[in-house]
Amino acid sequence: MTPMEKIRKLRESGSFHFTKSLGQNFLTDENILDKLVQAAGITPKDAVIEIGPGAGIVTEKLLQAAGPVLAVEIDKALIPFLQETLQPYPNFTLWHQDVLKAPLGQWIQENSPDQPVKIVANLPYYVTTPIVMKLLEENLPIHSMVLMVQKEVALRMAAKPGTKDYGALSVAVQLYCQVEKAFDVSPNVFIPKPKVGSAVVKLTIHEKPPVQLDHPELFFTLVKAAFGQRRKTLSNALSHLRPKEEKQEIVQVLEAASIDPVRRGETLNIQEFANLSQLWQKQFF
Ligand code: SAM
Repeated sequence: MTPMEKIRKLRESGSFHFTKSLGQNFLTDENILDKLVQAAGITPKDAVIEIGPGAGIVTEKLLQAAGPVLAVEIDKALIPFLQETLQPYPNFTLWHQDVLKAPLGQWIQENSPDQPVKIVANLPYYVTTPIVMKLLEENLPIHSMVLMVQKEVALRMAAKPGTKDYGALSVAVQLYCQVEKAFDVSPNVFIPKPKVGSAVVKLTIHEKPPVQLDHPELFFTLVKAAFGQRRKTLSNALSHLRPKEEKQEIVQVLEAASIDPVRRGETLNIQEFANLSQLWQKQFF
């Protein structure tokens, strides 16, 4: 079945209607579909997790190329259709669940104990960042994620220090992954058409993280504070974290980390944020 035939059959089955609030924009273009799966470099040895299978358009390609495939779908109205159309594939598992609450680690342990899994998804745009952060922060054994996201989010994930797109998401994603922007995707290849452009990004988890963090919570607190007030100098942007301290103390910590206090947070690279959190911890805790 072509993607359009699948979507037609799903609509005719009666119980499904597109739900905007669930970010339902289904892919209709075979060429983009192939490029998405190719970017993930799937082989029969790979276990794959797909987030949001929708009508099962990407899922079927994954089932043909991969070993075990887990698809996690929140919308109850899609479950009978997915079960019926993909039931011939013995490597298919479907969970009706919010992926933010799904015990993915357990499935990985049971289905791919010796090899990290690959994630492939045309993500629901309303919840992209929480999903990506859940996958990264849980330290699951993941090899890579090939994700269709809003174009603006792809640019933010890949952005370098000092650019307008560089922010807390760039730091968080680049702390865990190497980011490659694979290709742009037009709104015309989805039903219904999203209002924004899309892009596919490939996030490959670092074998060895670029920095060792002794205090990850503090690191992220400093990152958020630095980007929360982008127009301010670092010494001003960080001062509300230590309201009782003299600003001079904050300046001293910045200088000890070899960071000019008049720089803006958006110019700091990951290594500099890591040095800063190390010295901040020493000075204030
Ligand atoms: N993979 C399909 C495709 O490419 O045609 C559908 C992609 S659509 C952009 C996003 C899918 O994610 C929808 O099927 C939606 O119901 C599902 N979804 C939305 N929020 C979810 C969540 N929190 N957990 C799991 N699935 C979710």
